[in-house]
Amino acid sequence: MSSSTESDRNTPSAAVRWSVAAALCVMAVAAAIAQPQDDGERPIVLQAARIIDGVSAEARTGQVIVVQGERIVAIGGREIIPSGAEVIAFGDATLLPGLVDAHSHPLISTDSYQIDNLRWSSAYKALRGLKAVEENLQAGWTTLRIAGDADTAYAHLEVRRAIDEGLFVGPRLTGAGHYISVTGGGGDINFISREQRVIADGLVVDGVDDMRKAVREEIKFGSDWIKILVTGAFASAGDNPQDVHFSPEELRVVVEEANRRGVPVMAHAHATEGIKQAVRAGVRSIEHGTFIDSEGIDLMLERGTFLVPTLYIGDFYIEQGSPSGAQDKMVELSVRYREENYRRISEAVRRGVKVVAGSDFGGWPAHLNVRELGCLMEAGMSAMQAIQAATIVGAEMLGWQDRIGSIEPGKLADIIAVAGDPLADISALEQPVFVMLGGQVVRQD
Ligand SMILES: [Zn+2]
Repeated sequence: MSSSTESDRNTPSAAVRWSVAAALCVMAVAAAIAQPQDDGERPIVLQAARIIDGVSAEARTGQVIVVQGERIVAIGGREIIPSGAEVIAFGDATLLPGLVDAHSHPLISTDSYQIDNLRWSSAYKALRGLKAVEENLQAGWTTLRIAGDADTAYAHLEVRRAIDEGLFVGPRLTGAGHYISVTGGGGDINFISREQRVIADGLVVDGVDDMRKAVREEIKFGSDWIKILVTGAFASAGDNPQDVHFSPEELRVVVEEANRRGVPVMAHAHATEGIKQAVRAGVRSIEHGTFIDSEGIDLMLERGTFLVPTLYIGDFYIEQGSPSGAQDKMVELSVRYREENYRRISEAVRRGVKVVAGSDFGGWPAHLNVRELGCLMEAGMSAMQAIQAATIVGAEMLGWQDRIGSIEPGKLADIIAVAGDPLADISALEQPVFVMLGGQVVRQD
């Protein structure tokens, strides 16, 4: 490759080269301007037996959706179909907003994620995570909130970057780089002998000053949520979900520091007291909420805190067991507390807490994520409420309700289609036949 110098820029041949280059540029600009009149901006019309728009109480029938560019421009009767539009007709199918998974761990690939963390590089986890988010998109999940991930080098943010740069097609990603844990908490690795120094899967932080610094680092490196493990966990070795791990001072500082920067906090909390302390401290969402009591529900209603119960993961492990044995604790606790968990979450549903669907995805086939909606129905939701928990209510929790979560004019065209009627059989959502992300068709069977 030669470099251009002052003298060769002044030679006639260089001048010719520059004018040719300039002409090519003009042609390229002209082509870019002309393109929209051709196929780039040609409206796409989606037509199916029914549309669940994410906000109406009933499915809409006999209507179509008009998409132009990346947005939905209209929804209504066939008379709104613009001339020259490309019409995609699905027959006996249902169109609905792209699904929002509010609790996902794309870098966790197997039940033995803590061991994986010790033997896998960050780059390898990123590659597997990229594959996982692509599969989630194909399964209809157009937005994922990452609830911290099992890599302390922010690999999930590199996945997001590669998608944002257009190197790969993937869902919208938001969320936290790490789950912040105290020493001995659910993000620490508690089964290694004490003379080994290892980098845990979570970010291990103790005390108010270090909490403040950890929050600042998370934000510096691109996390748009802060995730904290306020109590012990079901999935990690050597801790107890009924213990509260954060002190009230640590909780207060995390929320204060995050909110100063406009970043919301999601709090993993099983234990009754941990849930209440986190809600009082001002977190935006409670993850799991397993042992929530009536007072905790009162507090969440008072403060508008969202609840992401992640019910399906327990059932998954009860049904499948743990191939490596690493999740034997999860299996045992899920069996022991299933009934109590459902009873407590049912009360929250009944009393109107804003409940959001989150799968706690970590390595199973992505089409299983939607079983969370069946679990929410078991906890008392109607099929429509469960779908809204995975669309508009999830969008509201993200603060993205003006962009995604419903099929309304002006919103980004994140739209999926499934055969049949998910209001009659929620499992219809397991096999989308069509996925559109921001107006781009990314799956069409
Ligand atoms: Zn989780």
